[in-house]
Amino acid sequence: MIQIDDLRKMYQIGDQQIQALRDVSLTIHEGEFVAIMGPSGSGKSTMMNVLGCLDKPTSGEYMLDNYRISTAHDDDLAFIRNQKIGFVFQSFNLLPRTTAVENVELPLMYSGVPVRERRERAIAALQDVGLGERLWNKPNELSGGQQQRVSIARALVNNPLILLADEPTGALDTNTSNEIMSIFQHLNDAGKTVILVTHEPDIAEYAKRIVRFRDGRIEEDQLVEVRRLAY
Ligand code: ADP
Ligand code: ADP
Repeated sequence: MIQIDDLRKMYQIGDQQIQALRDVSLTIHEGEFVAIMGPSGSGKSTMMNVLGCLDKPTSGEYMLDNYRISTAHDDDLAFIRNQKIGFVFQSFNLLPRTTAVENVELPLMYSGVPVRERRERAIAALQDVGLGERLWNKPNELSGGQQQRVSIARALVNNPLILLADEPTGALDTNTSNEIMSIFQHLNDAGKTVILVTHEPDIAEYAKRIVRFRDGRIEEDQLVEVRRLAY
């Protein structure tokens, strides 16, 4: 589903060139749960931006679901991103004066889904992440963990191919982090492909595979013993 070959990403700052990613080759199949790890500056964010079709590589190839992302036009990239990828961020990024249901409906508005269907799908997505009792609450009436569930429901509602989560537990306490990771695990058990960026080893252990970056290169790529909580 994801096939990356000899990918490089350079940044130009003045007359200085920074190689944020070099010689990166990576294959990710449907149904995998991959954690991307590495120290600060190792290229995780850059990799996430490329994987999420927010940014194109400088050279090399990136194929996503048979689309050649590496040479796609920006308009096509935006379309592919909206169709194929659900994003979850550390800071939730919810609209503050808007209910959980309305927040989750937002991506469906952009893709032109009719009002009734929007509502049904938003409610179903919130139920999927265990928030069926909080449909009409606004973000400031929800705990951090509940807000992150809303953002996971929003990421899921378009039924994307991949769930891409960037430090999704970075703003949460340990117990809540474990609950959120169990939700990702639950979604992965149901077949969803999940890619997670984290610098926390305890969080990465929820994934089935850990890819470690150092200095813009993949240093290690291993299948791991999966950590599980009682769900
Ligand atoms: P990480 O997420 O692992 O901290 P990044 O991908 O943010 O790593 O950064 C990798 C390298 O690329 C670092 O040296 C960083 O300073 C540089 N870098 C990242 N983004 C940019 C950018 N937009 N412009 C210039 N340099 C960048
Ligand atoms: P994270 O904490 O997630 O690793 P960073 O602090 O590395 O994030 O980067 C935050 C944002 O700033 C990212 O979008 C990254 O691409 C950009 N960035 C990182 N380093 C630089 C840099 N040296 N110059 C310009 N932009 C940068």
